[in-house]
Amino acid sequence: MKRVGFFRSIHHKFVIIYVLLILIAMQIIGVYFVRELEDTLLQNFQHSLKERVNLLTYDIEEEMVKERGKDDPTLEEDIRKTLRDHNASDISEIRVIDAGSFRIIGTSASNQGIVGQRTTELKIKRSIVLEKEEGIIQVDTKTGKRVWVQSTPILSNGEVVGAVHLVAKIENVFAQMRDINKILATGTAIALIFTAILGVLLAQTITRPIVDMRKQALAMTRGNFSRKVKVYGEDEIGQLAITFNNLTKKLQEAQATTEGEKRKLSSVLSYMTDGVLATDRKGRVILINDPAAEMLNVSRETVLSQPIVSVIGLEEEYTFEDLLQEQESVILDYSTKNKPYILRANFSVIQKETGFVNGVIAVLHDITEQEKIDMERREFVANVSHELRTPLTTMRSYLEALAEGAWRDEEIAPNFLHTTQTETERMIRLVNDLLQLSKMDSRDYSLKKEWVNFPVFFNRIIDRFELSKEQNVIFQRKLPEQTIFVEIDEDKLTQVLYNIISNAMKYSPEGGQITFSVEEQEERIIVSVSDEGVGIPKDNLEKVFDRFYRVDKARTRKLGGTGLGLAIAKEMVNAHGGQIWAESVEGKGTVISFSLPYVRSEEDDWS
Ligand code: ATP
Ligand code: MG
Repeated sequence: MKRVGFFRSIHHKFVIIYVLLILIAMQIIGVYFVRELEDTLLQNFQHSLKERVNLLTYDIEEEMVKERGKDDPTLEEDIRKTLRDHNASDISEIRVIDAGSFRIIGTSASNQGIVGQRTTELKIKRSIVLEKEEGIIQVDTKTGKRVWVQSTPILSNGEVVGAVHLVAKIENVFAQMRDINKILATGTAIALIFTAILGVLLAQTITRPIVDMRKQALAMTRGNFSRKVKVYGEDEIGQLAITFNNLTKKLQEAQATTEGEKRKLSSVLSYMTDGVLATDRKGRVILINDPAAEMLNVSRETVLSQPIVSVIGLEEEYTFEDLLQEQESVILDYSTKNKPYILRANFSVIQKETGFVNGVIAVLHDITEQEKIDMERREFVANVSHELRTPLTTMRSYLEALAEGAWRDEEIAPNFLHTTQTETERMIRLVNDLLQLSKMDSRDYSLKKEWVNFPVFFNRIIDRFELSKEQNVIFQRKLPEQTIFVEIDEDKLTQVLYNIISNAMKYSPEGGQITFSVEEQEERIIVSVSDEGVGIPKDNLEKVFDRFYRVDKARTRKLGGTGLGLAIAKEMVNAHGGQIWAESVEGKGTVISFSLPYVRSEEDDWS
């Protein structure tokens, strides 16, 4: 925590202001009080002196105007006596001067030598001439102390007969003032110490809760809300502390709610199957969930704070501003030659209440499968229409020819009719095949399974082909002797085998050999039909099981195929829980094999 500078701290401000206040107050009081006191003391001093001087002048006047006989003591002796009577400790000297001659006629000082001399003192002369009392504070040259020097005229019947000149010790008054000043100074010092202490204490009562609150605020910025400010009293600061504590509680609650919302949002995002990306208002990615990272094949760290248009690979077609305007979903095609991969992106703009754009949320959806299905469907419809159109156009032309008179020609007419017949059959076969496929697609069929000894069943089918074949092909059977019981739907498997064998015969050359085999494995049997025909190119080995797929369209159509035979076979074998595949060496021959689930029972071994 940063410390507050010395002179900026409330603590010190308080103390300094307090001390200054007291100092100023004491100064004002002190100056006023001391001056007044000094004046009063001086007045008192002069007053008491004046009374004594009045008495003295009266006595001396009495002596001066007295009628003296021969035996009476002289004026000087009487005055000396009077002065002795009036002597006081605070008076250093009293002189009496005769008005007519300005001669000193008496002194209280021990040095009586000056009696009879003329006075040189100007003050005395002035007070005699002006008939006025004069007093002044002077510094005694000998002692260096302050003295009160006063000359008073002595009046008798309204005439000045002389003057009294006295020097009084006034230093006492000043000493008294010094004492009082000292007392005042110590008082001030003590008051200052007390106010300083009080100031510190008072400042503490204010600063302690404030420092406490500051500490709490700092703790809050670090996310610690458990702290509480101590409430020291019920004053304004105490109320502030209570409000502060309330604020802390509210903040904690708000923080907890936001945290909860955040956690909810992040779990929603991570459990979503769709990809989600969010950007800030400049279009930089600030959030990406795992599915999105996976779909875009990027890592979260590299993508964060990158522009979204480049992350989803749209930087050439779109700017971020375009995305904000985009109402429809955008298709992102990441397909490569070998693998289709298509995403659909929907964008929604996050707006503040003010209408300002705060960012964009992009939701990505993998639509590869859907697109593939759509494409297949389109292709399928195109294929079907094409397959139907070919026989129909052939038939139309033949029928037209017949209608235009060919029916009369005994040689051509049966020929034409035969062709229309085969084309019709072909179409019926095609439609039947399609119906069968569509049934299998919608699972609208049931297998009538029975336990069948497979080699016997297979032999029977081969026999039928052997009997009816017109081509010159040699049949070679490699069937096991023992019984192999499998649970199959005979009709369906007959269809499968018919198709495979007829293909083999169709593509076999003159004198070629067709080999039939059944192999027994752990949990399945493998049925194969191999020929020595043209073979299938390696790339097409899997495709021959697709609907309408034919390696060489022109040639196969001549042979009467529609390209649905192996597709149906595949569906049926799969329905039995088996697999079907093709192996081939181009020009050398083809092997079509399929497997069927098989449980070897002990009975089989026995027989
Ligand atoms: P259909 O069986 O409907 O009358 P098809 O025989 O042409 O017509 P499929 O049985 O599905 O259709 O075969 C698909 C394609 O696979 C054939 O057109 C052919 O090109 C190729 N094919 C199938 N079996 C063989 C084989 N034994 N030798 C060479 N090519 C084959
Ligand atoms: Mg076929």
